[in-house]
Amino acid sequence: MVDFDDNSQLDTSQIEDRRGGRLGGRGGIAVGGGGLGIIGVILALIFGVGGGGSGLGGRASLDDQALGPGASQGAGEVQTACRTGADADEREDCRMVAFINDIQAYWRHEFKNLGRSYTPATTVFFSGSTTSACGTATEQTGPFYCPGDKKIYLDLGFFRTLQDQFGAQGGPFAEAYVVAHEYGHHVQNLLGVLDQISGDRRTGPQSAAVRSELQADCLAGAWTANAGRGVIGFEVTQREIATALDAAAAVGDDRIQETFQGRVIPESFTHGSSERRQHWFQEGYKAAGPEACNTFSGTA
Ligand SMILES: [Zn+2]
Repeated sequence: MVDFDDNSQLDTSQIEDRRGGRLGGRGGIAVGGGGLGIIGVILALIFGVGGGGSGLGGRASLDDQALGPGASQGAGEVQTACRTGADADEREDCRMVAFINDIQAYWRHEFKNLGRSYTPATTVFFSGSTTSACGTATEQTGPFYCPGDKKIYLDLGFFRTLQDQFGAQGGPFAEAYVVAHEYGHHVQNLLGVLDQISGDRRTGPQSAAVRSELQADCLAGAWTANAGRGVIGFEVTQREIATALDAAAAVGDDRIQETFQGRVIPESFTHGSSERRQHWFQEGYKAAGPEACNTFSGTA
């Protein structure tokens, strides 16, 4: 178990807590609408909603009793419940606040080293569904980063799905890997990588889509090697690293396709195989920095 320094102060201003609010969606579901999720749209198969591509509609539209944008903003449970490392030891949502604070402190430091300034990204905690600039976020989309509003959308319930449906061991650092991956996309966005690949819709093990996802895994590994040394004190054991690697493998395209479709179609890969996801996470971890994360040259 990750043990946080009880006296570390949590910064909940990096979180928008919309849990408990349901904001009806307008238009398609986020992933396919520009959001970059940690896994493909396979969740639709699990939750059994009809439709393909970004027109999933389905459940999202059932929730169309719009409360109006921002209705649940400020409802923020985390703002009151998550103040210190001691809270992060007790509550999953506060633990996520601690990891997000540490991830952003790390990238602020790395960008400074690059002579650049890091623009923080807000993480939206939601339950059920909520709106984003990339479309409706639902439990079916899984966690994702939306370049359109530079926010990360996270339904904490996904961590149960990761264990129950994807067979991951789970645990604090499996969850940290998921959110660090999404911040990897934010870093790519700030560095202009996403703009360079945005028009390329091809799939397959060497596609720009897969290379971008593997780069986000690598950037998650780079942070992991430096985790807990910034504003929030905690230690990352080898056992924790193993749960992150296990989570990376659990969301490999081949593993998911094998599990849910019974056959693997490499040319349809959008996120990379389990082995490649683990490989690039380890590359970032071993180098303890983003300089090892050039997944766009050579074999992905
Ligand atoms: Zn991703």
